[in-house]
Amino acid sequence: MEKVKMLDVTNLHVTIDDIEILKGVDLKINQGEIHAIMGPNGSGKSTFSKVLAGHPSYQVTCGNIFYKEKNIENFDAETRSHKGIFLGFQYPVEIPGVNNEDFLRLAYNSKQRALKKKELDPISFLNVLISKLKLVNLDLTFLSRSVNVGFSGGEKKRNEILQFALLNSDLGILDEMDSGLDIDALRIISKVINQLKTEKKSIILITHYKRLLEYIKPDYIHVMMSGKIIKTDNANLANVLEEKGYEWLN
Ligand code: ADP
Ligand code: MG
Repeated sequence: MEKVKMLDVTNLHVTIDDIEILKGVDLKINQGEIHAIMGPNGSGKSTFSKVLAGHPSYQVTCGNIFYKEKNIENFDAETRSHKGIFLGFQYPVEIPGVNNEDFLRLAYNSKQRALKKKELDPISFLNVLISKLKLVNLDLTFLSRSVNVGFSGGEKKRNEILQFALLNSDLGILDEMDSGLDIDALRIISKVINQLKTEKKSIILITHYKRLLEYIKPDYIHVMMSGKIIKTDNANLANVLEEKGYEWLN
C-alpha cells in the first residue's frame, strides 16, 4: 500500500536577521511515522521546528515545505495549527494574566471553528479537559493558574503535551520534551505521546538523549548539524551517537 505523505521538506534554507541558519534541509515523513532529530546545540533544530509551525520571524529563502501534499508557504502559524501542525516548544512561554483553562478553550474552539466543527461552552469543555488532564497527571489547580506562570520545567512540558492531546493534531513537533524532566515525568510524557500516536499521526521528536527514544521508538533518527540533516538511520543510531558523539559525522 502506498504510504500517505505527511511532510515533505526539500532544500529548505532559512535566515533570521539575514543570518542563514538552515542551509538545505531535506526531510520526508509519512503518516504514522515517528522521526527523531538529534544534533549538537545550535545546529538549527529549534529553528526548523519553528519554521514548520510558521513562526513569522524566520525567512524561508529557498526550498519548500509540503504538508499533506500542499505547499504551506503562505499559511500563517494559526492556519497551520488549524490544519493539524502542533509545535511543543523547547521553552514554553509564560503568559501572565491569561488563565490556562481559558487559553486552552480558546485554542480548542478556534480550531473547531476553522474546521467548521462544534465549539464547546465552558462547562462541556471542562469535561473534555479534565479527561486529558488525567492523562498528563496534572491536577485541576493548573487550570486556574496563568499559562505556565510558576510551572516547573516538567509541568510546562506536561502542559504542552496537554495542548497536543486537546488539539488532536496530525503532526506533532515536540522540541526537547524530555529536557528538565525527572524519570517519572519522562515516563508519563512518553506514555501519553505513545497513546496519542495513531497510524494517522506523525511525530517529530527533537531530543539530545537516547533516554526518551527508549520509551518512544522512532522509525528514523536524523542528525542535524550546521543547518542540515547530515545522517539518517534507524533507531539504533541513538546508541551509536551516545557512544561516539557527533564529531565522527563531520
Ligand atoms: P538548536 O535547537 O539545534 O540548539 P537553534 O535552532 O536554537 O539550534 O539555533 C541555531 C542557530 O541559530 C544558533 O546558532 C542560534 O544562535 C541561531 N539563532 C536562533 N535564533 C536566532 C535569532 N533570533 N537571531 C540570531 N541567531 C539566532
Ligand atoms: Mg533547540
